[in-house]
Amino acid sequence: MKRREFVKQTAVTAGLLTIGGAGLSSFSENKTKKITILHTNDVHSHIDPFGPEDGRNSNKGGVARRATIIENIRKENPNTLLLDAGDIFQGTPYFNFYGGELEFKLMSMLKYDVVTIGNHDFDNGIGGLHAQMPYAEFKFVSANYDFTNTVMDTLVKPYEIIIKDNIKIGIFGLGIALEGLVMKDLYKETKYLDPIEIAQDMSAILKNTEKCDLVICLSHLGYDYKNEPDKVCDLSLAKATENIDLIIGGHTHTFLKEPTIVKNRKDRAVLVNQVGCYGLYLGRIDFYFDGQKNKTSEGRAIII
Ligand SMILES: [Zn+2]
Repeated sequence: MKRREFVKQTAVTAGLLTIGGAGLSSFSENKTKKITILHTNDVHSHIDPFGPEDGRNSNKGGVARRATIIENIRKENPNTLLLDAGDIFQGTPYFNFYGGELEFKLMSMLKYDVVTIGNHDFDNGIGGLHAQMPYAEFKFVSANYDFTNTVMDTLVKPYEIIIKDNIKIGIFGLGIALEGLVMKDLYKETKYLDPIEIAQDMSAILKNTEKCDLVICLSHLGYDYKNEPDKVCDLSLAKATENIDLIIGGHTHTFLKEPTIVKNRKDRAVLVNQVGCYGLYLGRIDFYFDGQKNKTSEGRAIII
């Protein structure tokens, strides 16, 4: 019997089988699979929790508590990815004293998978970022920063692909225009490429060529600019592109309780999420894939 026919037949009789030996492996392909995406953005060197005097943020945040929450979620679902949308650096004396070494070492301990680069990650110059790379046991993606002729060349890929439970996840990065935001002396020869064009190219490669089941954009473009409607943001990016399933944003420190749903060029839903700043929250989106790899999702922000 051909394998496909066998699967079909066992599917028909599935209701009758309670315990089975033969054919059990075929059933597993029809099982719902769950991929959990955890994410942070704009942590800005916040390592300790906020103190009791810090008003509405008092006693919130901190790497230790984030580590415990992540560990518990990984126990519940080993098919979990941990991502960051940039601005890892700048904001506390830890950065001024150690230049980002501590941030990268702690993120490595928390087993971050992939991150993108924010404007403040250039605050000690591209050389300062480069100097901390030996401490980063996670991957950097940016598709619209061209680092040719800089020290970061070859250390940052346009995208990464991670496979969890046979689900192929493609993750590409987008950064904000550096001109006018960061001194040229700091970013040197880094070239900024149009994020919409690049996003179209990257998402097409990931969806059509690489056959990813889930396409994620890690963006430091910002959620929305109400007073500057022509400025590219995550909402306009979602609308103007196709093939992206989820945009995880940063830069504007926007706190969303749950992802915003935007219709893309092909009228398909794109989730756009961002969870404030300073490590106060952890974003969580669970994707469920059926046997045909159709997906549904559920998202929320976790207070740390
Ligand atoms: Zn920021």
